[in-house]
Parts: sequence; structure tokens; C-alpha cells
Amino acid sequence: MLMLEERKQIVAYGKLLKSSGLTNGTSGNLSILNKEKGLIAISPSGICYDLVKPEDVVIINRNGKVIDGYCKPSSELDLHASIYKTKSGAGSIVHTHSMYCTVFASLNIPLRAVHYLIANTGSDNVPVAGYEPYGSKELAAKVSGLMAKNQAVLMANHGMICSGGSIEEAINIAQTCEWVAELQWRCLCIGKPDVLSSEQINIVLEKFKSYGQNDADDTGPKGYSA
Ligand SMILES: [Zn+2]
Repeated sequence: MLMLEERKQIVAYGKLLKSSGLTNGTSGNLSILNKEKGLIAISPSGICYDLVKPEDVVIINRNGKVIDGYCKPSSELDLHASIYKTKSGAGSIVHTHSMYCTVFASLNIPLRAVHYLIANTGSDNVPVAGYEPYGSKELAAKVSGLMAKNQAVLMANHGMICSGGSIEEAINIAQTCEWVAELQWRCLCIGKPDVLSSEQINIVLEKFKSYGQNDADDTGPKGYSA
């Protein structure tokens, strides 16, 4: 079976998306790029994460054309393919309708640096891409434009999407975004949060390079767990 390892990861991390509360039912989707083959393993459309098997995962090329698999791929395959084209470091993409991110996406309010952990996204904010219908090429164009400079983006009246060098990193960023979104919401309930400056976040980004087991010279995934 083509890209069996990536198919297994899509199954395992899809279950994690659901069990960690980042998604429910069949909403959201995830993909992994195999750079050597130039092919993408993407979750199938409309199958509950608990029921997806490796053979249900669909393999597409960088243009979104189905190469292997009998299921229909995620309705957001253009979105995933467009981001891999514009973001050279992306090895995996995770898209969710997680509640607190979707609240801010629906208010058209970016996530701000209410906590230093937003640096896990590589930036001091998570911007909002304007609304376009799900599965549309217009949505793919708007989101991939913003993703060129960000690892995470909110999608107006829809949800959030993020990329990582690996599926582990992408899931970690999705979890961080949801946590920061909930914190921002809670702060706004009782006052005006003190937002950290981009200079303060840049210092955090430097510190992340040597956090935990990371090498000080490692410029790859930050690997900071929220
Ligand atoms: Zn969606």
C-alpha cells in the first residue's frame, strides 16, 4: 500500500484530534507530505475519526489529484495542496473547528500574545483569513497566502488551520492555538489582557531553540509542549 506509514499516522493522529477535544464528528482534516515522493496522505471525507482505517486514507499529488485510494479525499484537499506549495517547510497540516479558535474566527479577531506560548506558532499573533466557502479554491488562495508567513491561521466563520514540520508539531500547534484562544476569551470576559510585544515574543522564540531536548543550534521545529 502506497505510503502505509503516513496512512497509519493519519489514522492515529485523527483519533488524537478527537480524543483531545479539538474536533468532533467528521469536521476538520489532516495531511502529511512525503517530500521524497512529492505525495500527500490526506484524511478521507465524511468518515468519523474513530472508524478511519489506513486503507481509507487517500494519497494525492501536490496539485490535489488522487493518486491512490478508493475513498473521496477531504473536501479541503485544495487548501492542503495550496499550503504545501506556498510553505516550503510544511510537512503536515491540521485543520480543526475547535471551539475557542472558531469563536475568534467568527468575530474576525486574531489571536494575540496574551501568553508567551503563542510563540509556539512561530509568531506573536494568529491572523484571520476572510470568509470563503469551505472546499473552495478562493478559500485555499486566501489561507495559503497568509500561511506563507504564519504557521497558524484562523479561517473566518469556519475554524483554524496550522502546519508543522511533522504531524506531531502540527498537532502541538493546534493544541496551543486552542489553549491561547480559550485564555484570550477568558481574559476578555473580565478585562483587557496585557498583550506581549513582538520584541518580547522574539526573545521567547530564541529561548525555544534550546528548550527541553532541543539543541541550541537547532533551527527546526521548536518542539515546545504547552
Ligand atoms: Zn473545516
